[in-house]
Amino acid sequence: MSDARSACRFLGAPALAAVLASCGAGLPDRTSEPRRPNIVLYVVDTVRADRLGVYGYQRPTSPRLDAFAADAVVFENAYAQSSWTRPAVASLFTGLLPPAHRTVGRRSTLPEDATTLAEILAANGYEGMGLVRNPNVGRAFGFAQGFVRFRTEDRERDETMLDRVRPWLDERQDAESPFFLYLHAIDPHGPYDPAPEFEEMFEAAGAPEHYRTVRYLLELNRREVQPDEGTAEALSRLYDAEVAQNDRAFGTLLDELDVRGLTEDTAVIYVSDHGEEFAEHGRWEHGLSLYEEVLRVPFVIRLPGVPPRRIETPAQHVDLLPTLLAYLGIEAPPADGRDLLARRRRGDARPDVYAHLDVDVHRAASVIRGRYKLVLPQSASQGTAPMLFDLEADPGELEDLASERPKVVQRMLDLLADRNLTGEIAAAEEIEDDQIDEDVRRRLQALGYLD
Ligand SMILES: [Zn+2]
Repeated sequence: MSDARSACRFLGAPALAAVLASCGAGLPDRTSEPRRPNIVLYVVDTVRADRLGVYGYQRPTSPRLDAFAADAVVFENAYAQSSWTRPAVASLFTGLLPPAHRTVGRRSTLPEDATTLAEILAANGYEGMGLVRNPNVGRAFGFAQGFVRFRTEDRERDETMLDRVRPWLDERQDAESPFFLYLHAIDPHGPYDPAPEFEEMFEAAGAPEHYRTVRYLLELNRREVQPDEGTAEALSRLYDAEVAQNDRAFGTLLDELDVRGLTEDTAVIYVSDHGEEFAEHGRWEHGLSLYEEVLRVPFVIRLPGVPPRRIETPAQHVDLLPTLLAYLGIEAPPADGRDLLARRRRGDARPDVYAHLDVDVHRAASVIRGRYKLVLPQSASQGTAPMLFDLEADPGELEDLASERPKVVQRMLDLLADRNLTGEIAAAEEIEDDQIDEDVRRRLQALGYLD
């Protein structure tokens, strides 16, 4: 029995009707069709687009990504669907906005009946392996669906994740089926504790020792400590050093593909789940607001046979699934995203960009249409008055125009309402505290997620 057929049988749940339909109708016939390319989905946690050379940054944080991007499709204006990991990756995996995947809160899980990218690929003959260094997208929260192998990694650095990938690639060297490798790296996420060589490179070694702890970042957000004049700059340097450290890890992965002769027939997707704040609006880290610094992410894809270019039209997480499946010739389930490589006709409207946040006490939604961005805070921590920004005139979102442009505000509130983003979103499924095992709890605490 072919891998694809056994995967279809394995996935025979009623909720996977769309996948099953594609299994029945579109089983790849290996005698006549060329093999589909392998796929590497490289998600790096917490990387802001504007800290990378390919997006215009001046410091040398990303030599490997920059070189990779020269042969790839670069989305210049790419957005996260949320400002923390779980809902953002749920959108990447399902092509759905948060009101549809309903994986929003601290305890919420990606529901079993969600149709994920890994499941669709498995149904079409792919063998999936997932390695995640962020437990927020671990098995306990539903993200292992569709992977034959999946584990949450406790390795010290992103670079050492490759130690697990190599034996797997060795093992399946003669495999007939293509692979889907999902790596979720996390070096740039707090605590900012780069290796000494990277600290030196970014002149970050002089930062006080406690700047390298999650506790300090939490205390800054709770206003329990006051930042000094140089705090944002010092934390920024440590962060840059970790971005660079991850870049080297990404480069090592590319080298590994090269050495194995896999580069030509492997699609590689590089994307971040969200950005990071350095007090541009008085906050630190992420998951607290929907300003550009937490929503603008790198999104670079290298697909065999697709010529390199830079695309200015906005892209967002929900677009990954329809784009990749269209490229592979696999029918996609209904999604909120669109195929980013489809030819656009003159007069096509610029796509609207949506984001949503509902974690702990922080709730907000946002939409960008053209030059305007509306943020609707919906909680005591955020306020409740809509804010309107002109991103062309004011990319730093410093001047709220809501009172001057009530008609624009209303139009954009209607857009949010149309997408069910103005009200509370009930989580699809939630995990109880006692269902989180000690190991996951410890890792979440190390990242600052649980007290
Ligand atoms: Zn994250």
